[in-house]
Amino acid sequence: MKKGEKRLCRQISICEQKRIALKKKLLRPKPMLEGAPVAKYTYCGTAGCACHRDESKKHGPYWYLTFRRGGKSKSRYIGQDEKKRRKVFAYKRHQSNHAELRKLNKAIDEHLVALRDLYLERPDEEKD
Ligand SMILES: [Zn+2]
Repeated sequence: MKKGEKRLCRQISICEQKRIALKKKLLRPKPMLEGAPVAKYTYCGTAGCACHRDESKKHGPYWYLTFRRGGKSKSRYIGQDEKKRRKVFAYKRHQSNHAELRKLNKAIDEHLVALRDLYLERPDEEKD
């Protein structure tokens, strides 16, 4: 066994375990709504309301959904619609889990190359 081999194997199996957990989630997608949730806080029209004096007393959150269509950024009000908000957050989670899975795939690939390189001799550096 070469120096560093154990460490690489351990890192690969850690990545593999995380990969299995993520794949499990990704294989059970929930209803999703495309876009990024944005919470907005606003002033109201009532004179004397605390929101006009204190930033932290502004009303909200009022939820919007931002998404891209035809190269343009768009926004839709989704308000307090709990069902839509759940779908938006499910989409956000799904996208971030998928991104994490791609990162792990890349890390496993790199560790495997490093593991191979421990045993790889190049023609111009041959030892025997
Ligand atoms: Zn107000």
